Amino acid sequence: MSELANSLEAYQLMPFRFRRLERTPDTVLVTSEAGEHAFLEESSFNQLVNLKPLNLGIADDLDARQILCRDDRSLAVRLLATKLRTRKSFLRHGPSLHIFVVTLSCDHSCAYCQVSRRIGSAEMPEGVAVAAVERMFESPSPDLTVEFQGGEPLLAFDRISQIVRLIEARNVDGRRRIRYTLTSTLHHLDERALQFLQHYNFHVSTSLDGPANLHNGNRPLPTRDSHTRTLEGIAKARAALGIDGVAALTTLTKASLEQPEAIVDEYVRLGFRSVFLRPLSPFGFVARAARRMEYGTSAFLTFYERALGHILDLNARGVEIEEVYTAILLKSIFTSYSTGYVDLRSPVGAGFGTLVYNYDGDVYASDEGRMLAEMGDKSLRMGSVQDFYRDLIDSDAMHLLAASGLAESLPGCADCAFVHYCGPDPARSLSSAGEPAGHRAWSDHCGRHTGIFELLFGIVRKANPATMRTFDRWVHGSPGVDRAECA
Ligand code: SF4
Repeated sequence: MSELANSLEAYQLMPFRFRRLERTPDTVLVTSEAGEHAFLEESSFNQLVNLKPLNLGIADDLDARQILCRDDRSLAVRLLATKLRTRKSFLRHGPSLHIFVVTLSCDHSCAYCQVSRRIGSAEMPEGVAVAAVERMFESPSPDLTVEFQGGEPLLAFDRISQIVRLIEARNVDGRRRIRYTLTSTLHHLDERALQFLQHYNFHVSTSLDGPANLHNGNRPLPTRDSHTRTLEGIAKARAALGIDGVAALTTLTKASLEQPEAIVDEYVRLGFRSVFLRPLSPFGFVARAARRMEYGTSAFLTFYERALGHILDLNARGVEIEEVYTAILLKSIFTSYSTGYVDLRSPVGAGFGTLVYNYDGDVYASDEGRMLAEMGDKSLRMGSVQDFYRDLIDSDAMHLLAASGLAESLPGCADCAFVHYCGPDPARSLSSAGEPAGHRAWSDHCGRHTGIFELLFGIVRKANPATMRTFDRWVHGSPGVDRAECA
């Protein structure tokens, strides 16, 4: 009798996805249609799917997440719709990240470079810059992030400053909230550039691959002092923009995978409060240098687990440092809000969240689309800066992305319990499989994300108090990020 009193006998199921977690036996992860999650033991999961009486506490929990409903199904559907609308709120205003590739020139010769650098050529002409600014203001978003990229964008500083002046003049009537970012090695920061960046409240992002030996090996300069010059640039930029105005990220080569602790410790030593452990991309020079630089998904996941473990130990000892990608995923797992991170959106961030104005006047749906074009595939070229925004958005590239860029409709992803926190990757599928949908069974993107989600949900399930305090700080305490780029 008392057992029945503590049970819910009559209920209906709402749509949900599930996965038996590999790292925590007897645990089934259940995710609602809006991306809220619950852990169930196998016995409770069997009761749920067979509509058998459920422990009242578990039933209340699943009811609150619209995984089941007691009687008013229409209320549960309305609640789900509200949560889903919040999670997908990035769709309301169209592309908000506008990337200006002002030059391909760069003095580094990184083997993993994604952009096919060209020395002394390939700079954005004034006419392209003017038209690109017009296209940006034709897009409807009230919030615009303007990112300058290269090559090394500071080698085209005059063009950057002209574009910013154009934007500021245009925005007197436009009244958008504008945020400027620069992705740079910081090796060419002079007093004029520093004053300019400070005046317009720029946020800068640079590449730091780890300690000197690793960084200099990954990012060679003829003078062999890339690490020293990067540290000098970081110091100058921090003096002008403040410590939180400068972020850095790694690109992980095969050599990097041997040194997870050393990479993290270098960031701590230099006073960074975050590190972005970013795997190699399959685009550009990397494809050509693959044998020397590349590694498999399991090697990356072993590295990632070791690095994250080290980061969590540091935090438990009072050293606050965040792994940016983990923080983005945790925000998506623990809140209903959109993280703002365009690389993990569904529908895909390419085109729907980002426009890339290339130095030559071509407009791409994403940076990867631009790199794909460098490799000979122009599928993600939306058009030219001389085309109107409405034509760019109605281009063949956008139709292709709309058809292949919704994770919830892709084979494999459609019934994946992680789909709410993941995103499709049409550019990578085009590059590896020759078509935009690809297939999860042989996708690196899927293998890597499945591994990361298994790791994170395993950690969350174990709920070590110190780790959960760190995760809570990462979820609620750090700013959003659109995109983090190599410099
Ligand atoms: S890519 Fe893999 S992990 Fe991501 S949603 Fe699709 S099936 Fe799930």
